[in-house]
Amino acid sequence: MTRQEFIERSLLMGVSLPLLSSVLLQSCGTESLIFPNLDSSFKGNVIIIGAGAAGMYAGYLLKQNGIEFKILEASSVYGGRLKKAENFANFPLDLGAEWIHVDPKILGEIANKSIDQSVFETIDYNPQTIKTWKNGKLKSHNYIKNLYSEWKFKRSTWFDFFEQNIVPEITDSVVLNKPVLEINYEEDKVITKTADNESYEADKILVTVPIKMLQNEQITFQPEMPQAKREAIGKVYVGDGIKIFIEFNEKFYPDILSYGNIFKALTEENKFVYDAAFKKDSDKNILGLFAINEKASAYTKLNEQEIISKFLSELDEIFEGKATTHYKKHIIQNWSKEPYIQGAYSYSFDGNKSEIVNMVSQPLMDKVYFAGEALSEDNQAMVQGACESAYKMIARMIKEG
Ligand SMILES: Cc1cc2nc3c(=O)[nH]c(=O)nc-3n(C[C@H](O)[C@H](O)[C@H](O)COP(=O)(O)OP(=O)(O)OC[C@H]3O[C@@H](n4cnc5c(N)ncnc54)[C@H](O)[C@@H]3O)c2cc1C
Repeated sequence: MTRQEFIERSLLMGVSLPLLSSVLLQSCGTESLIFPNLDSSFKGNVIIIGAGAAGMYAGYLLKQNGIEFKILEASSVYGGRLKKAENFANFPLDLGAEWIHVDPKILGEIANKSIDQSVFETIDYNPQTIKTWKNGKLKSHNYIKNLYSEWKFKRSTWFDFFEQNIVPEITDSVVLNKPVLEINYEEDKVITKTADNESYEADKILVTVPIKMLQNEQITFQPEMPQAKREAIGKVYVGDGIKIFIEFNEKFYPDILSYGNIFKALTEENKFVYDAAFKKDSDKNILGLFAINEKASAYTKLNEQEIISKFLSELDEIFEGKATTHYKKHIIQNWSKEPYIQGAYSYSFDGNKSEIVNMVSQPLMDKVYFAGEALSEDNQAMVQGACESAYKMIARMIKEG
């Protein structure tokens, strides 16, 4: 069950808010997230397409099992939807994934080792001042503080977590600036062609590109993927996505501000404004905007100046002109404009989710495998879900030999 589904169901059942809080902390998919050591006699080599969380983690698992691999990444950096701004504030900002939605013990489980707590200390993210903006009115809902609690890194980021714990094991095998255009799995070996017309050959391939890239047919499959699989790929909804951070001279905003009905906002999580410096031991006033789907589309098509003007004037309306008065600087991460991401993350499914995920995950002739956040049934749209799907696919791949 995803976090969103869990909150939705609990609210429908009328679970009391304080109770929900403690249940929520233990209920979002952690049980299925056990990464036992893999056992393999597989002797072939593997190509992984994409160096986001799923691709990097797949490489990490192969490395631990002594299996030869290469990761082909289209862009000039690894990380995918894990990205950070190092110097905007006096703590690093997560421009993509930011919250740890399940118990932070997941970090040690992913890395399969103990994590340096001095670097990766986490905070309980439990905003104390909670407001909504609805019908031109600002309302307090501080009672929600008993409901909502997750975690965040205190002085590091999701990107740092991978960079320090996963990347050192795989860095020699990552090839950047290699957009894959074609996968040919007709013969014994699988052959991939990259935009610079180079070919890479392997026994197996793991495709971890965002589902949006498959929907837009950015990669040609030879032979074509079965129609049922193509249809299933089309049934995953991925909307726009954007994050904006602004430094202000003064903190005039609550710890978190959502739009419209508070319970709807809690379950849908399409747009909210938050104190990005909350519990970060920082003297800086950094406000964040998180927006996905149609709420994000209102910004993603604009240029940088238009985006910031629009957002500041929205904040001015809510906070009586204080945003423009106290504005210092901003940074925008428009995920919809990233050429190899093109959106936020899998949000909903046009049909039965497990059937769709199962169909998209089906390997092609036991040679081409698929992983990524959209293909995790229990932790979809989250970093640990990307890892979980990579783990499952690597386990299957090396078992099938
Ligand atoms: C705004 C936003 C906020 C989020 N917040 C959170 C959060 O708080 N907590 C959380 O757990 N998760 C969050 N997520 C989700 C999380 O970031 C993702 O679930 C996860 O990082 C996805 O990893 P992935 O490996 O599946 O995909 P990606 O990270 O997208 O990796 C795919 C990689 O494939 C590469 N690629 C694409 N096409 C090609 C090609 N043709 N050839 C080669 N390479 C290619 C891309 O460049 C990319 O590096 C957020 C995401 C967004 C966008």
